[in-house]
Amino acid sequence: MIVDLRSDTVTIPSEEMKAAMLNAKVGDDVFGDDETVNKLEKLSANLFGKEAAIFCPSGTMTNQIAIKIHSNAPGEIICDELSHVYKYEGGGIGFNSGLATKLLQGNAGRLTAQQIKEAISVDDVHFPETQLISLENTCNKGGGSVYDIDEIRKINALCADKKLKLHLDGARIFNALEESDYTAKDIGELFDTISVCLSKGLGAPVGSLLLGNKSDIQQARRIRKVLGGGMRQAGYLAAAGIYALENNIVRLKDDHKKAKILETTLSQISYVKAVLPVYTNIVVFEVIDSIDATEIIKKLAAKNIKVASFGPQQIRLVTHLNFTEEMLEKTINTLKQL
Ligand SMILES: *Cc1c(COP(=O)(O)O)cnc(C)c1O
Repeated sequence: MIVDLRSDTVTIPSEEMKAAMLNAKVGDDVFGDDETVNKLEKLSANLFGKEAAIFCPSGTMTNQIAIKIHSNAPGEIICDELSHVYKYEGGGIGFNSGLATKLLQGNAGRLTAQQIKEAISVDDVHFPETQLISLENTCNKGGGSVYDIDEIRKINALCADKKLKLHLDGARIFNALEESDYTAKDIGELFDTISVCLSKGLGAPVGSLLLGNKSDIQQARRIRKVLGGGMRQAGYLAAAGIYALENNIVRLKDDHKKAKILETTLSQISYVKAVLPVYTNIVVFEVIDSIDATEIIKKLAAKNIKVASFGPQQIRLVTHLNFTEEMLEKTINTLKQL
């Protein structure tokens, strides 16, 4: 038995999902002819109460497209220093949109309206003009942290007042919804655009969606084409996305439960210095100074448990739909006996 906790992207499509893919009605999506892609776009837009959606190969692409359509270089984007858009998208903000990035230090990846307010450039030719704000919910590098809706409302009001665009990297938005008192529609109201990943906890093999109003998504289609992301019979992939949205959201709480159990286990282990608070399906822990984290990673790998390095002395475990009760038990026992 191999246990893979490196990410929730490692999931393999179930038989039911594969059947949905094989039976998909497809067409050329660049011509707008793929009815399964059209259905997925409509379904996801409706879910969040947005006008339109566009299906893309990855969350990096949906984020980068959003940043591009909301900006006009020279200018700047404001985001948390832990943001995926800044940290894990290969420098795409500068490469694709020619923007400067102003990084703020939030609480586990979460910014406050007050912080953003203080960071917005004053109107002076010396400073890059602030054009958009990007938030991440849940925040990956923040250990799967979840935003409070009241703070997002304040940020939304600030953006409206300052005429700034507001984007959400919601790669794991459904994990956030599971652990909060707000709905997809509440979130939809507060952002100009939202990225949603189908290939993380939802278990689809490929694909992300960008949601927004009609004119933004129309512009997004142009940018997706330029980036080489216009796909043809993409309905085979979209069918997996539809299956994921219809079947794999409710079970996310199981992943969260397992993550909590891992948190408890880790907090009692002598080679663990600290466990970051677990909010959703991401568990990050720090190894004590006298041991090298890579040593622990190697030892776990030797026992067929794969985990990810997450910075100096930090290790990340992500629970997902292929991580069974049996695997959880094996992981707990192995961690304890290492
Ligand atoms: C995974 C992820 C993305 C998108 O990643 P892709 O691998 O390009 O699909 C974006 N934001 C966050 C927070 C993520 O975890």
